[in-house]
Amino acid sequence: MWIVIIFLLFLIFLLIRPKQVKKIKSKRLVPFGYTLFYTDQNTKNKNPNVIYKKILYSEKYNIQGKPDFIYKKFNTCYIIELKSGAIKNESMPHTGDLLQLVAYFLIIEDLYGYKVKKGKLIYSDYSFIVHNTRYLRKYLLKTLEDMRSMLKTGQGQANCSFVHCKHCMCRQTVCDFYDKL
Ligand code: SF4
Repeated sequence: MWIVIIFLLFLIFLLIRPKQVKKIKSKRLVPFGYTLFYTDQNTKNKNPNVIYKKILYSEKYNIQGKPDFIYKKFNTCYIIELKSGAIKNESMPHTGDLLQLVAYFLIIEDLYGYKVKKGKLIYSDYSFIVHNTRYLRKYLLKTLEDMRSMLKTGQGQANCSFVHCKHCMCRQTVCDFYDKL
């Protein structure tokens, strides 16, 4: 009996959990009910309640960055990153862009103690809503660990494939791994 109940609860969890990344047509910038807290954009008339162009550094994760916009509602933040290119018929954002946004989630939580539930990657044609899930955070931390280890030892394994590498500027230029594909 208990096994059936646990199984049903697990099924319900799978059905109601938010998708990690969702592609949408809307490029709306300001999330409903949120106010601007930080921006990396230039403006003549500065709002004294907004932080401008500061490099945000997380000591805990040893990562830093400057998101395009952070909006805040109570103790919750929503991060927006603008991308100049188009995503066309891709179902997912570029991996580097996705990891950049997730890195901002961690930085904001560590630096300000605010909760970050989700953010948005806005390309010139489509946007992606990205949820701050455990899976994405773990994915980012593992990638950081691999990168740091590669920098230290000069050795590493590249996850090289046509799909993974197709937007990388190192492809067919400086990357030895891709040449061996
Ligand atoms: S082309 Fe090379 S550097 Fe770029 S993602 Fe692929 S393996 Fe990594």
